[in-house]
Amino acid sequence: MKRKLAAGNWKMNGTNATLGELQTLTAAHPDPRIDILICPPATLIVQAAALTADGPLMIGGQDCHTAPSGAHTGDISAPMLADAGASAVLIGHSERRENHHETNALVADKATSAWSAGLTAVICLGETLAQREAAQTLDVIATQLDASLPGGATGANTVIAYEPVWAIGTGLTPTTAQIAEVHDFLRARLADRLGEPGANAIRLLYGGSVKPANAAKIFAISNVDGALVGGASLKSSDFSPIISALEQA
Ligand code: PEP
Repeated sequence: MKRKLAAGNWKMNGTNATLGELQTLTAAHPDPRIDILICPPATLIVQAAALTADGPLMIGGQDCHTAPSGAHTGDISAPMLADAGASAVLIGHSERRENHHETNALVADKATSAWSAGLTAVICLGETLAQREAAQTLDVIATQLDASLPGGATGANTVIAYEPVWAIGTGLTPTTAQIAEVHDFLRARLADRLGEPGANAIRLLYGGSVKPANAAKIFAISNVDGALVGGASLKSSDFSPIISALEQA
Protein backbone atom coordinates (compact mmCIF):
# COMPACT_ATOMS: atom_id res chain seq x y z
CA MET A 1 0.00 0.00 0.00
CA LYS A 2 1.45 3.36 -1.09
CA ARG A 3 1.91 5.74 1.84
CA LYS A 4 0.98 9.34 1.28
CA LEU A 5 3.69 11.95 1.75
CA ALA A 6 3.73 15.38 3.36
CA ALA A 7 6.99 17.08 2.39
CA GLY A 8 8.19 20.42 3.74
CA ASN A 9 10.64 22.66 1.92
CA TRP A 10 12.21 25.17 4.28
CA LYS A 11 14.09 26.84 1.39
CA MET A 12 16.71 29.35 2.67
CA ASN A 13 15.09 29.60 6.08
CA GLY A 14 16.08 28.19 9.43
CA THR A 15 18.88 28.20 11.95
CA ASN A 16 19.62 26.00 14.95
CA ALA A 17 16.87 27.84 16.78
CA THR A 18 14.32 26.51 14.26
CA LEU A 19 15.09 22.85 14.90
CA GLY A 20 12.70 22.73 17.84
CA GLU A 21 9.89 22.67 15.24
CA LEU A 22 10.99 19.14 14.36
CA GLN A 23 10.64 17.98 17.95
CA THR A 24 7.20 19.58 18.19
CA LEU A 25 6.13 17.83 14.98
CA THR A 26 7.45 14.48 16.20
CA ALA A 27 5.59 14.87 19.48
CA ALA A 28 2.37 15.72 17.61
CA HIS A 29 2.70 12.81 15.15
CA PRO A 30 4.60 10.01 16.93
CA ASP A 31 3.11 7.27 14.74
CA PRO A 32 1.77 8.92 11.56
CA ARG A 33 -0.18 7.01 8.94
CA ILE A 34 1.74 8.89 6.24
CA ASP A 35 5.38 9.66 5.46
CA ILE A 36 6.70 13.05 6.56
CA LEU A 37 9.77 14.61 4.97
CA ILE A 38 11.39 17.88 5.97
CA CYS A 39 13.99 19.50 3.71
CA PRO A 40 15.84 22.08 5.80
CA PRO A 41 18.74 24.15 4.46
CA ALA A 42 21.90 22.08 4.03
CA THR A 43 23.48 23.67 7.10
CA LEU A 44 20.89 21.95 9.33
CA ILE A 45 20.72 18.47 7.79
CA VAL A 46 23.17 16.81 10.18
CA GLN A 47 21.49 18.23 13.28
CA ALA A 48 17.99 17.62 11.90
CA ALA A 49 18.80 14.00 11.05
CA ALA A 50 20.29 13.41 14.49
CA LEU A 51 17.29 14.98 16.22
CA THR A 52 14.78 12.90 14.25
CA ALA A 53 16.73 9.62 14.08
CA ASP A 54 14.42 7.75 16.45
CA GLY A 55 11.15 9.21 15.12
CA PRO A 56 9.05 9.07 11.97
CA LEU A 57 10.32 12.28 10.33
CA MET A 58 12.60 11.90 7.33
CA ILE A 59 15.12 14.57 6.37
CA GLY A 60 15.95 15.64 2.83
CA GLY A 61 18.15 18.02 0.89
CA GLN A 62 16.89 20.78 -1.40
CA ASP A 63 19.29 20.18 -4.28
CA CYS A 64 22.34 18.12 -5.20
CA HIS A 65 25.11 18.27 -7.77
CA THR A 66 25.29 15.68 -10.55
CA ALA A 67 28.80 14.54 -9.56
CA PRO A 68 29.59 12.62 -6.37
CA SER A 69 32.57 14.87 -5.57
CA GLY A 70 34.96 17.27 -7.24
CA ALA A 71 35.88 20.88 -7.90
CA HIS A 72 32.41 22.46 -7.59
CA THR A 73 32.73 25.22 -5.02
CA GLY A 74 29.61 25.74 -2.98
CA ASP A 75 27.82 22.65 -4.28
CA ILE A 76 26.76 19.57 -2.35
CA SER A 77 26.65 16.06 -3.76
CA ALA A 78 24.03 13.37 -3.29
CA PRO A 79 26.43 11.05 -1.40
CA MET A 80 27.21 13.96 0.94
CA LEU A 81 23.50 14.44 1.64
CA ALA A 82 23.13 10.73 2.34
CA ASP A 83 26.19 10.84 4.60
CA ALA A 84 24.64 13.78 6.49
CA GLY A 85 21.53 11.73 7.19
CA ALA A 86 19.21 12.69 4.33
CA SER A 87 17.03 10.06 2.70
CA ALA A 88 15.63 12.22 -0.10
CA VAL A 89 16.39 15.32 -2.12
CA LEU A 90 14.30 17.87 -4.00
CA ILE A 91 15.39 18.10 -7.62
CA GLY A 92 14.44 20.76 -10.16
CA HIS A 93 12.43 23.00 -7.86
CA SER A 94 11.19 25.95 -9.94
CA GLU A 95 13.39 28.30 -7.92
CA ARG A 96 16.40 26.22 -8.99
CA ARG A 97 15.18 26.06 -12.59
CA GLU A 98 14.67 29.85 -12.60
CA ASN A 99 17.51 31.16 -10.41
CA HIS A 100 20.15 28.64 -11.49
CA HIS A 101 18.99 28.00 -15.04
CA GLU A 102 18.49 24.29 -14.42
CA THR A 103 17.38 22.42 -17.53
CA ASN A 104 15.35 19.24 -17.72
CA ALA A 105 18.49 17.35 -18.76
CA LEU A 106 20.36 18.60 -15.70
CA VAL A 107 17.42 17.66 -13.48
CA ALA A 108 17.50 14.13 -14.92
CA ASP A 109 21.25 13.86 -14.27
CA LYS A 110 20.72 15.03 -10.69
CA ALA A 111 17.97 12.46 -10.19
CA THR A 112 20.30 9.71 -11.43
CA SER A 113 22.95 10.94 -9.02
CA ALA A 114 20.43 10.96 -6.16
CA TRP A 115 19.40 7.37 -6.94
CA SER A 116 23.04 6.27 -7.02
CA ALA A 117 23.45 7.64 -3.49
CA GLY A 118 20.35 5.79 -2.32
CA LEU A 119 18.23 8.94 -2.06
CA THR A 120 14.64 9.34 -3.17
CA ALA A 121 14.45 12.06 -5.83
CA VAL A 122 11.51 14.44 -5.44
CA ILE A 123 11.38 15.78 -8.98
CA CYS A 124 9.55 19.09 -9.27
CA LEU A 125 7.80 20.43 -12.34
CA GLY A 126 5.14 22.96 -13.19
CA GLU A 127 4.04 25.63 -15.62
CA THR A 128 4.41 29.41 -15.39
CA LEU A 129 1.37 31.67 -15.44
CA ALA A 130 2.16 32.72 -19.02
CA GLN A 131 2.25 29.07 -20.09
CA ARG A 132 -1.07 28.35 -18.38
CA GLU A 133 -2.68 31.39 -19.94
CA ALA A 134 -1.42 30.26 -23.34
CA ALA A 135 -3.08 26.84 -22.78
CA GLN A 136 0.35 25.15 -22.81
CA THR A 137 0.16 23.56 -19.35
CA LEU A 138 -0.09 19.90 -20.38
CA ASP A 139 2.52 20.30 -23.12
CA VAL A 140 4.93 21.87 -20.62
CA ILE A 141 4.24 19.15 -18.05
CA ALA A 142 4.74 16.42 -20.64
CA THR A 143 8.05 17.86 -21.79
CA GLN A 144 9.30 18.36 -18.26
CA LEU A 145 8.27 14.88 -17.13
CA ASP A 146 9.68 13.11 -20.17
CA ALA A 147 13.02 14.92 -20.02
CA SER A 148 13.48 15.29 -16.24
CA LEU A 149 12.73 11.69 -15.25
CA PRO A 150 15.50 9.24 -16.11
CA GLY A 151 14.80 5.61 -16.97
CA GLY A 152 14.59 3.38 -13.90
CA ALA A 153 12.06 5.31 -11.81
CA THR A 154 10.26 3.34 -9.11
CA GLY A 155 7.91 4.17 -6.28
CA ALA A 156 10.84 3.82 -3.89
CA ASN A 157 13.30 6.09 -5.66
CA THR A 158 11.01 8.76 -7.15
CA VAL A 159 8.31 11.22 -6.13
CA ILE A 160 6.89 13.74 -8.62
CA ALA A 161 5.79 17.15 -7.32
CA TYR A 162 3.49 19.21 -9.52
CA GLU A 163 4.08 22.82 -8.54
CA PRO A 164 2.59 25.52 -10.75
CA VAL A 165 5.18 28.30 -10.61
CA TRP A 166 2.46 30.94 -10.21
CA ALA A 167 1.09 29.20 -7.11
CA ILE A 168 4.37 29.00 -5.20
CA GLY A 169 4.52 31.47 -2.35
CA THR A 170 1.72 33.59 -3.83
CA GLY A 171 -1.35 32.43 -1.93
CA LEU A 172 -2.89 31.49 -5.30
CA THR A 173 -3.94 27.90 -5.94
CA PRO A 174 -5.28 26.23 -9.06
CA THR A 175 -8.87 25.04 -9.04
CA THR A 176 -9.64 21.48 -8.05
CA ALA A 177 -10.28 20.69 -11.71
CA GLN A 178 -6.93 22.17 -12.78
CA ILE A 179 -5.01 20.12 -10.21
CA ALA A 180 -6.95 16.96 -11.12
CA GLU A 181 -6.29 17.50 -14.82
CA VAL A 182 -2.52 17.68 -14.34
CA HIS A 183 -2.30 14.85 -11.80
CA ASP A 184 -4.44 12.52 -13.94
CA PHE A 185 -2.28 13.46 -16.92
CA LEU A 186 0.93 12.75 -14.99
CA ARG A 187 -0.36 9.33 -13.88
CA ALA A 188 -1.33 8.39 -17.42
CA ARG A 189 1.96 9.60 -18.86
CA LEU A 190 3.90 7.64 -16.24
CA ALA A 191 1.81 4.57 -17.13
CA ASP A 192 2.88 4.93 -20.77
CA ARG A 193 6.49 4.66 -19.64
CA LEU A 194 6.34 2.36 -16.64
CA GLY A 195 3.09 0.43 -17.00
CA GLU A 196 0.19 0.91 -14.63
CA PRO A 197 1.63 -0.79 -11.54
CA GLY A 198 4.87 1.18 -11.92
CA ALA A 199 3.02 4.45 -12.42
CA ASN A 200 0.65 3.84 -9.53
CA ALA A 201 3.58 3.24 -7.18
CA ILE A 202 4.99 6.73 -7.74
CA ARG A 203 3.61 9.38 -5.41
CA LEU A 204 2.34 12.56 -7.03
CA LEU A 205 2.50 15.61 -4.77
CA TYR A 206 0.77 18.92 -5.30
CA GLY A 207 2.74 22.01 -4.26
CA GLY A 208 1.89 25.70 -4.26
CA SER A 209 0.37 27.67 -1.37
CA VAL A 210 -0.90 24.60 0.50
CA LYS A 211 -2.18 25.80 3.88
CA PRO A 212 -4.16 24.25 6.75
CA ALA A 213 -7.27 25.93 5.30
CA ASN A 214 -7.07 24.36 1.82
CA ALA A 215 -5.23 21.09 2.53
CA ALA A 216 -8.24 18.79 2.95
CA LYS A 217 -9.81 20.03 -0.29
CA ILE A 218 -6.56 19.45 -2.21
CA PHE A 219 -6.00 16.00 -0.68
CA ALA A 220 -9.44 14.88 -1.85
CA ILE A 221 -8.43 15.38 -5.51
CA SER A 222 -7.82 12.30 -7.64
CA ASN A 223 -4.20 11.22 -7.95
CA VAL A 224 -2.97 13.63 -5.28
CA ASP A 225 -0.81 11.51 -2.97
CA GLY A 226 0.39 14.33 -0.76
CA ALA A 227 1.88 17.80 -0.82
CA LEU A 228 5.14 19.66 -1.11
CA VAL A 229 4.76 22.62 1.23
CA GLY A 230 6.97 25.70 1.45
CA GLY A 231 5.91 28.53 3.74
CA ALA A 232 3.44 26.50 5.77
CA SER A 233 6.09 23.88 6.61
CA LEU A 234 8.21 26.32 8.60
CA LYS A 235 6.01 26.29 11.69
CA SER A 236 4.75 23.07 13.20
CA SER A 237 1.52 24.87 14.06
CA ASP A 238 0.86 25.21 10.30
CA PHE A 239 2.40 21.95 9.07
CA SER A 240 0.83 19.72 11.72
CA PRO A 241 -2.78 20.33 10.57
CA ILE A 242 -1.68 19.70 6.99
CA ILE A 243 -0.22 16.36 8.09
CA SER A 244 -3.45 15.55 9.93
CA ALA A 245 -5.53 16.43 6.86
CA LEU A 246 -3.44 14.06 4.73
CA GLU A 247 -3.76 11.29 7.29
CA GLN A 248 -7.52 11.67 7.14
CA ALA A 249 -7.75 11.90 3.32
C1 PEP B 1 7.53 25.22 -2.54
O1 PEP B 1 8.46 25.94 -2.27
O2 PEP B 1 7.76 24.12 -3.05
C2 PEP B 1 6.18 25.68 -2.26
C3 PEP B 1 5.18 24.94 -2.67
O3 PEP B 1 6.05 26.86 -1.56
P1 PEP B 1 4.70 27.45 -0.90
O4 PEP B 1 4.01 26.31 -0.20
O5 PEP B 1 5.17 28.50 0.04
O6 PEP B 1 3.87 27.97 -2.02
